[in-house]
Amino acid sequence: MTKNHPSGFGEDSEPVASRIATGLHKIGLAMKQQSWQQANEEGISATQGQILAALLAHGSLTGTELSARLGVTLPTISDSVRVLVEKKLLRKSPDPRHPRASLLALTRKGETLGARARSWPEFMAGAVSDLSADEQRVFYRGVVKMIRTLQEQGLIPLSGMCVTCTHFRAHVRRGEAPHHCALVDAPLAGGDLRLECPEHELAAETARKQLWEQFMSPG
Ligand code: SF4
Repeated sequence: MTKNHPSGFGEDSEPVASRIATGLHKIGLAMKQQSWQQANEEGISATQGQILAALLAHGSLTGTELSARLGVTLPTISDSVRVLVEKKLLRKSPDPRHPRASLLALTRKGETLGARARSWPEFMAGAVSDLSADEQRVFYRGVVKMIRTLQEQGLIPLSGMCVTCTHFRAHVRRGEAPHHCALVDAPLAGGDLRLECPEHELAAETARKQLWEQFMSPG
């Protein structure tokens, strides 16, 4: 505590950015703990649950594609896939695009478990729903910005988000839904922006920069 500062929270106090980072760390630990616990109850690992959830969301993928989407190394994916195939939650078939690769698809049992694994982070939605509508809007915008920064730094896989998608059009109109998805030709409000869209197509680096500038500067 600083003696010279009556409030005791003056010049020695941590910057807000550091406190937010500490808070996110605590939230991350809670999410990790929940995933671990729920995976344990299902008799699988958290990574295996992520794989099932990803295949349910995106359809059949190769091990390399899973590795890129989940940000998990290929050897870890291969180990998890071997166990999931043994448990009859996944099946392999030849990939028509690459003769030497295998496509991984969910079995019926895998689909059921994948749906449950997708709901593992839902406990957090309860805490978020305690925020007001305005707080949620600002928070979500902050989340999108942070993920985009971490993606550009290579710390989160570059997939799924509208703001990096070749179909995204930022601020094309005024009003509640200023953005647009050209793929489905539909307006998007700030709260509609996707973080995990299965139709996402990554824009080239220069186009991503332009998209981001347009998104950040309505003009
Ligand atoms: S395809 Fe998906 S990620 Fe791309 S702009 Fe449309 S909704 Fe967003």
